[in-house]
Amino acid sequence: MKFITIKKRTLCAVLMILVTICSVVGVCYAVRATSLPKPNRTIVIDAGHGGRDGGTVGKTTGVSESKLNLDYALELKNLCQQFGFEVVLTRSSMDGLYDESASNKKKSEMEKRRQIINNSGADLMISLHMNSFPLSSASGAQVFYAKGSSLGFELAKSVQNALSQNFENARDYVSVGDYFVLNYSTVPAALVECGFLSNPEEEKLLQTKQYRQEFCYSVLYGIISYFDM
Ligand SMILES: [Zn+2]
Repeated sequence: MKFITIKKRTLCAVLMILVTICSVVGVCYAVRATSLPKPNRTIVIDAGHGGRDGGTVGKTTGVSESKLNLDYALELKNLCQQFGFEVVLTRSSMDGLYDESASNKKKSEMEKRRQIINNSGADLMISLHMNSFPLSSASGAQVFYAKGSSLGFELAKSVQNALSQNFENARDYVSVGDYFVLNYSTVPAALVECGFLSNPEEEKLLQTKQYRQEFCYSVLYGIISYFDM
């Protein structure tokens, strides 16, 4: 695959083996056996948008960002759970987080998202989104953190490093992002723009199971690296 290097295959193979070990013989044994950090941690995975807010739309296939965000969130959830992490999802269906009776649904949705994240008692939060840009050539994963959050910066850096090692077009730097879920999260948080739905090639890649799995393995690796600091 064009965007994927040999390094990724090595990394993904190691993680796939670890996850398989975890699911077969139990997480505790696997953790002792591999001397990786004890995964008694809780992670909030936030699938962006939902309900009447579909986010951006794929230029070629018309896929909605909210659907892909959910697909990636569920994939990452499974991997994290197989590794032994506790997982809290902000949403697990295509429904929006807002109260249907609310007059301001955006405000209602944001408040609900904030409550789930900040009441979770989690160690970190990963918010998943898909990007869009007027130039169709723009591509690659970008990770953002809230201005002034040193732990958010470290988390974003760990995830971005894992992605840039495995996907040639991923950024090799992190950026401050002025996003509600980052600014109002009381737990260390990073927002991952997985790729561009305005890029026809990436739009198709993002919808393949293999790409989704490899991408989420990389995010999991970034999370593990963050805990191992
Ligand atoms: Zn989005």
